[in-house]
Amino acid sequence: MKPISLSTGASFAIGRLESHGFDCYAVGGCVRDSLLGFAPHDWDLTTNATPPEIVAAFSDCRVIETGAKHGTVTVLYEKEPLEITTFRKDGAYADNRHPTSVTFSTSVEDDLSRRDFTVNAMAYHPKKGLVDLFGGQEDLARGIIRCVGDAETRFYEDGLRILRAVRFASALGFTLEENTARAVRNCEHLLDGIARERIREEWSKLLLGKTPATILRDYPEVFTRILPEIMPVAPQTLDLLASAPLDLPVRLALLFDSSEKVQEALARLRYDNTTREEVVALLELQKTVSDLTEIGLRRLLRSYSAKTVARLLSLLECKGTNIGDATVALQVILARGDCTSLQALAVKGDDLIALGIPAGKQVGAILETLLGRVIDGTLPNEKSALLSAATLLNK
Ligand code: ATP
Ligand code: MG
Repeated sequence: MKPISLSTGASFAIGRLESHGFDCYAVGGCVRDSLLGFAPHDWDLTTNATPPEIVAAFSDCRVIETGAKHGTVTVLYEKEPLEITTFRKDGAYADNRHPTSVTFSTSVEDDLSRRDFTVNAMAYHPKKGLVDLFGGQEDLARGIIRCVGDAETRFYEDGLRILRAVRFASALGFTLEENTARAVRNCEHLLDGIARERIREEWSKLLLGKTPATILRDYPEVFTRILPEIMPVAPQTLDLLASAPLDLPVRLALLFDSSEKVQEALARLRYDNTTREEVVALLELQKTVSDLTEIGLRRLLRSYSAKTVARLLSLLECKGTNIGDATVALQVILARGDCTSLQALAVKGDDLIALGIPAGKQVGAILETLLGRVIDGTLPNEKSALLSAATLLNK
């Protein structure tokens, strides 16, 4: 395991709470990622101080009471957000989602016991060291996701944990411990009661993980619940996914074969419009596009962003289409600043009106024709050449 090096903010917050007489530890994802040798993307802290006591200890900092009811306060330390949560034990779960009550606790052990997986249930203190009550380090070293406590019980408390189990397995390239795996397969119906936004978040992280194809293959029960449209995933598609670029729209496009299905599925999971439109565009373009020469690429850039065209190329390449040197050609077009839009055309509507072309539709139509010719390389994007062509077009 790699040594843990706290962020400046985390070490400040631990010191500050201790100087006020409280215990405080880094906990969860930041400890897991540090031990694996990855830089944590944020630091979560856990303490026996209650939310009002946390707020009082950081009276000179910007503090956001994110979820005081659940014991969470966010402190901003030189722009670094630190989520500080009071030790708690969750009460009974009435609906497989939300604990009906949250009880604050005075022991870090209670707090670790309520966490989902052994690898996520470790706390770290710079002097006291690692608190690892459930064998988290060993599971990390062996690449195992294991529930803290009885897996089925933990899934009945919160159905989202089923998806989190497979999400972490995919993200880290881990496997599920036997009992956890069995409970995932037996309890997948519990996912029906989970907020779709939360499902989307876990699913997106799963898809962008190290081994999404293995997980999709091994836990079809879970994906039939959340994304019946893509099931069963063909073995060839799983092979493609295993080496697909780390890009959400490309990976989503790879899994769907029709744009109607994708619309329905992505809307249900509450994906934002940009992602939905991008995936639909990729699915349609991959069927229709045939010309990947410089001219063909410029024609695409007339209607789609450079990002979308680049994604299309990586999707086609991933699916085994011979795209020749289209990726390089796209870079050349962009670096050279080829004109692919009316904004970049060397003449504007006013220039045509000055030639005597009546303002209105005709101007727009001529500009579009000129742009088409520039894109196709039959006219240079130069004012004099464009104006001569416009005069001829107006006859
Ligand atoms: P990521 O890198 O994706 O942020 P993370 O481990 O930090 O990973 P979060 O969803 O941010 O995951 O949750 C923070 C911590 O809170 C987890 O490590 C885990 O200890 C605990 N946790 C989160 N969700 C649950 C849950 N549904 N049930 C039990 N514990 C949970
Ligand atoms: Mg996190």
